[in-house]
Amino acid sequence: MSRALVTGGAGFLGSNLVEYLTNRGLEVIVLDDLTTGSMENLRHVRRDRMRVVNIDVRKTGAILEYFQDVDVVFHLAALAGVKLATRSPLRTLDNNIQTTRSVLEACSSAGVERLVFASSSEVYGETSTCPMNENVPLSPISSYGVSKITGEFYCMAFQKKYGIRVSIVRYFNVYGPRQSAKMKSWVVPAFISNVIEKRPLIVHGQGDQTRDFTYIDDAVKGTYLVGTRSYGHGEIFNIGTGIETSVLDLARLILSVTRSSNPIIHTRPRRFHISRRCADISKARSELGYSPSISLRNGVKRTYEFFRKSYHGKMSRQ
Ligand code: NAD
Repeated sequence: MSRALVTGGAGFLGSNLVEYLTNRGLEVIVLDDLTTGSMENLRHVRRDRMRVVNIDVRKTGAILEYFQDVDVVFHLAALAGVKLATRSPLRTLDNNIQTTRSVLEACSSAGVERLVFASSSEVYGETSTCPMNENVPLSPISSYGVSKITGEFYCMAFQKKYGIRVSIVRYFNVYGPRQSAKMKSWVVPAFISNVIEKRPLIVHGQGDQTRDFTYIDDAVKGTYLVGTRSYGHGEIFNIGTGIETSVLDLARLILSVTRSSNPIIHTRPRRFHISRRCADISKARSELGYSPSISLRNGVKRTYEFFRKSYHGKMSRQ
C-alpha cells in the first residue's frame, strides 16, 4: 500500500492521520474545503509526501481525478459534532450525506478497492446497553447521528453493488492537540480553554452523563489498523477505550492536572441528552490488535500543554 487519500485531512482527526500515514512512507492526497479544518493543522507534515486540494468533496465530477491509483481512501470530511448539528441540522445532514455519497461514487468510478468511513458513537443514541458493542440496535437522536447512520447504509449499499471493501469506524469522543476549541463543540478543548482563560467550566446538568474519551494517537492507530488490514470487508469497529468517565469527573480531572481552581458551573441539560456512552472494544482488540495506551490523565496533560503553548504563542503575537 503506497497511496492514500484522506477527505477532511485538514481537520483534527484527519491531519493527525495524514501525519501518521506520511511518517509511514505513504503518499497522501488531502481533499478538504477548510470549512472547519485549516492548513495550520498540516504544518508538521512532510510536503514531499502530501498534496492538499482545497475542494468541496460533494462535487463528484471535480474530485474524481484525485481517486486514480489510490490504494485506500479514508473518508473523514464532515460537519462534525452534535453542537454544530444542533445549530444547523439541515446543513449537517446535507453536507455529511452528500460527501459520503460523492466519495463512494468517486471510489467506484476510479476502481478504489478500499474505503474507511469515519462514523460516530452518535449512531447508538440513547441505548440501555453500556458498554455498547457494534451489534446493539441503533437509535440516533441528533441530525449528526442520522447523517452518520445514513453514511453507513450508503457504504453498505455501494459495497454490495460495486464490491468496494468498506470498513466503518465508530469513534468515541476523540480529543487531543489540534482539536478546535471554537464554538465549544467538544468538551475537552472547551474545558481546557476555559482553564487557560480563567473562566468557569460549564457542565450541562449534574454532569453524571458518561463518555468514553479517546486520545487522538489511539484513534489514529485504530484507523490505520482498520485501513491496512489484509482481510475482511463490511466490518464495523468501535474505536474508544472501554473506560466510562462522567463529565463532572472529567472537569475535576482537568482542574487537578492543570492545578487550577476555576469554579464548575452547572447549567441546564443539553437538548440531545445521552446519559451513558462507552465502547465495547473487544472486536477491535481481537481482530485488529487495537490496544489504546494513553490514559485520560496523560492525554489531558498533553492536550493542555498544546493549548497552553498555542494560546501563549497567540497572545505574544498580538
Ligand atoms: P473536523 O471538523 O476537525 O474535521 C472535518 C474536516 O472535514 C474539516 O477539515 C472540514 O473542513 C472538512 N469538511 C467538511 N465538509 C467538507 C466538504 N463538503 N468538503 C471537503 N471538506 C469538508 O472534525 P474531526 O473531529 O476531525 O472529525 C473527523 C471525522 O471523524 C468526521 O467525519 C467526524 O464526524 C468523525 N468523528 C469525530 C469524532 C471526534 O470525537 N472528534 C467522534 C466521532 C466521529
